[in-house]
Amino acid sequence: MSPNSADGSEPSRSSSRELPDDFGERLSQLDESELRAVISYAKSLLPRPPTVEDLLAERPGEEILEVEERDGYTKVVKRQSCAQGCAECPHGPYLYHVRVENHPEDTKGPSLHWEFIGLVR
Ligand SMILES: [Zn+2]
Repeated sequence: MSPNSADGSEPSRSSSRELPDDFGERLSQLDESELRAVISYAKSLLPRPPTVEDLLAERPGEEILEVEERDGYTKVVKRQSCAQGCAECPHGPYLYHVRVENHPEDTKGPSLHWEFIGLVR
């Protein structure tokens, strides 16, 4: 019997944090600058997390006027329609600070968190 046989309760993707024995041994023989090189190489292999711009999409009735990367958030200026769809639609332009929210427990992936700042004059 294989110790790795699936019993149905484990996710199918590999979540093992164990390094193969020989690989861990090789790493322990490296000096500091070599280890740093391994870390930066490993980071380059990881999938790049999505940015606000990757996830940003105009919804019906919206008009995105400005997107600007800032430190820690992305500034977005947009006009948008209200729920009723009145004669003055779309309203704004409004300023938002937008961040990517990750949901590690969630399989839906990252989504956008919109912080309303105010009307742009
Ligand atoms: Zn309206």
